[in-house]
Amino acid sequence: MIQKESTGTIRSKDVIRKKDERNLLTPDEIIAGVFSIIFASTNKKRYNQSMVDSKNQKQKKLVDLHTHTIHSDGAFTPTELVEKAAELQLAAIAISDHENIDGIDEAIKTGEKYGVEIIPAVEIGSYPDALTEHHILGYFIDYKNKKLVETFKELQNSRENRAKRVIQNLNDLGYLITFGDVKKMAMGTIVQPHIALIVINDQENKTILIKEFGHIPDTGEFIRKYLIPGAPAYESRSALTPQEAVDLIHEAGGIVVFAHPCWTTATKEQGKIIFDDKKFESVLKVGIEGVEVLAHRGSEEDTRISVKHFDGLAKKHNLLVTGGSDFHGLGSAGKQLGYADFYLEVPYYILDKLKEKKYG
Ligand SMILES: [Zn+2]
Ligand SMILES: [Zn+2]
Repeated sequence: MIQKESTGTIRSKDVIRKKDERNLLTPDEIIAGVFSIIFASTNKKRYNQSMVDSKNQKQKKLVDLHTHTIHSDGAFTPTELVEKAAELQLAAIAISDHENIDGIDEAIKTGEKYGVEIIPAVEIGSYPDALTEHHILGYFIDYKNKKLVETFKELQNSRENRAKRVIQNLNDLGYLITFGDVKKMAMGTIVQPHIALIVINDQENKTILIKEFGHIPDTGEFIRKYLIPGAPAYESRSALTPQEAVDLIHEAGGIVVFAHPCWTTATKEQGKIIFDDKKFESVLKVGIEGVEVLAHRGSEEDTRISVKHFDGLAKKHNLLVTGGSDFHGLGSAGKQLGYADFYLEVPYYILDKLKEKKYG
């Protein structure tokens, strides 16, 4: 594991929104957005039926290989998620919570009831250095593997200890928040938006928030001011390197896929997406077997450009192609389950290729 150190005034470019990227969200901001909306709306059952109908009319066998539940930072229980997949007539979904496998058993049980195939998976945040983050997906993992379970437990403990230190820093800065509040809100993995939301939504913090921001900030603003590297409440944490993440997935018999490189190895400058292929290729060395080509950027146009680009790189490096919506919950800045709200779709043959790799 590496220790992510505080880096003075350097800001992670994944977190800072660039001028001409104003309408795009980084994965972190997507997560932050999800939480703002979950908090604002308790009506979890609101679902766009017309979207479901139009997708079903196509009568294709579709899958979604990237989803989250309440066991990391998703809004739905595994059962609710599988029920949604059944409504959308998806043939299969992968449960890929962040460093967490607790939702898989429940999803498999519900999947059997509804005829939705469940792929046991995981998404691991990995850091080659303190300011670079790459997400690695593992498919068809033995989710009861001892080393895997133990490592995730360790990471969870370290996340909790880190959260305690961050909360202490915020208390020292004058904000009211307790670890108990955070624990209550985060059903599984604690992430920064949990902390930001609790502070923002506590009426007793109103005066200091207005003094510091001039208004009540959203979670993204709060995170950028206090919780990113170099910010006053930031604390370093232990995290896996890409090599450690890959080794862990292999140890559990899984297939290793580079998640949404369209966010972590590409930026948008002056209205144009710039791909950093050197950065992409540097990650491959650790033993990547597939790439999440069917991932979305902010707009359809940008997504089309990026899908084409990474499809080319997958061919060049002889990698499997995967895809998924990264569905977290309703109203998120991300996409709906099964890309029900977007032009992309993930056909079943993509899953067949993964199965061929796993079972030969
Ligand atoms: Zn991710
Ligand atoms: Zn994800």
